[in-house]
Amino acid sequence: MKEKVIFIFLMTFFGFAHVSSVHTVDSLTIIPQVEGYHLTPALKVREQSRIYVGGDITGAVSIQANTKIVRVLLAGDEEMSSESWGLWGQTLTWDNYAKEQVAYASWELDNKFDVVLHVATVTTYQSDNSYGISPALLDDAVRKLNFRTPMIFNGVWVDILVVFSDSRYADIELAGVAYDNGIDPHTGNPCAACMIKPQRDDSTNMNLGWTDMNLVQHEISHFYGAPDHIDESYPHYNDDCIMSYRYVYVTTLFKYGYYITINDWIPLTYATNNYCSDCYETINSNRTKYGYVNPPPLFPSANEISTGGGNNGTPKPW
Ligand SMILES: [Zn+2]
Ligand SMILES: [Zn+2]
Repeated sequence: MKEKVIFIFLMTFFGFAHVSSVHTVDSLTIIPQVEGYHLTPALKVREQSRIYVGGDITGAVSIQANTKIVRVLLAGDEEMSSESWGLWGQTLTWDNYAKEQVAYASWELDNKFDVVLHVATVTTYQSDNSYGISPALLDDAVRKLNFRTPMIFNGVWVDILVVFSDSRYADIELAGVAYDNGIDPHTGNPCAACMIKPQRDDSTNMNLGWTDMNLVQHEISHFYGAPDHIDESYPHYNDDCIMSYRYVYVTTLFKYGYYITINDWIPLTYATNNYCSDCYETINSNRTKYGYVNPPPLFPSANEISTGGGNNGTPKPW
């Protein structure tokens, strides 16, 4: 195994992941890709620990004149909703955990693209555990929730679907699935749907709260056209990009005021919140694709679907 070692020193300040040392390695776990989906490899970490140093980003988003507010339908399957979840030393119900994870992804998208994720409503559903692969599990959720982009769900507008599942599709070592460009590959219709499988410590089976915010950001980036950088043959594979599957050796991560000791090889997807120049340009050029600009629609009616123009409170049907 050839090993190149590089050291990257980044400023450590609030809101940015810090990789104290980054190594690249030639041997990789390659996830076979499925047409119409993006599949993210699961994290493999042998041990980790967290030291609380404070920090809370909830509510820290800034809504400016041209900020796009993307309304999220948050769904959890029965495995997800029957457990409690750890984040920064706290134990949370599944929905509070998922909201926190979306809030961190929102923080990043707000800073970079003036896109804010707003969890508009939450639901649970029964996942079909007979599906052995995660694309089918995402399809299952989309069908059962009858989701499309945009739609009214529980009486409110939603633009994107973020499913948290703890079903056994984790067995195939996938952590996330998203419809490419927010399009349902079966119907060709707008359907910005993705699925997150919370990552766990292999030895303790405890969930790794610091991972799933990156998965949310990564999968939502696919809705805006950002591609996976799967191996060396992909441009920007070696860049500092959350869409890259390049394995990096991480000693310590500094995220949102917390230090995480890792000392293991992990996909760059979990270690950075940055984008390469191509992904940045792609997402930025599509930043208005979902959601609305202030003020929000209060009590939407079904006819707004056909009359929407995209601005000033009227949902954009695209
Ligand atoms: Zn991906
Ligand atoms: Zn990229």
